[in-house]
Amino acid sequence: MYQYKRVKDNLYVLSLDNHTEITEALKAFCDEKEILAGSVIGIGAISEATFRFLNPATKAYVDKTFSEQMEITNLTGNISEKDGCPYLHLHITASRSDYTCIGGHLLTARINGACELLVEAFPDAAVGRYLDGETGLNLYKF
Ligand code: FE
Repeated sequence: MYQYKRVKDNLYVLSLDNHTEITEALKAFCDEKEILAGSVIGIGAISEATFRFLNPATKAYVDKTFSEQMEITNLTGNISEKDGCPYLHLHITASRSDYTCIGGHLLTARINGACELLVEAFPDAAVGRYLDGETGLNLYKF
């Protein structure tokens, strides 16, 4: 599902296998390394992805799936803990074949090419989440 190299104490470089789903592979890595707090950045190429948009007025999520080849021009996010498990909060910007970009909150993305991530784990830390009534978001709980 992935290969990785530890490049510094809490810093890992990951190469995800082609055709894997990014959030699934990243969750598996966090499970393996017992990471419950950290940050993620990455790039890559995908052919199928579902992005999410939260309408703040209705607090309803709108999901949209894109089935086309795209470059991940930026993937940024963080890792926290929810119900004892790693919880990913990822955002993505992806470019299409016409060089325009689309983006949003990343729900799922299937790699078609490569995906290279940098994961920084915050050692001996677990940052939780709680559901905030006003925004409808799972916010950081410190
Ligand atoms: Fe988000």
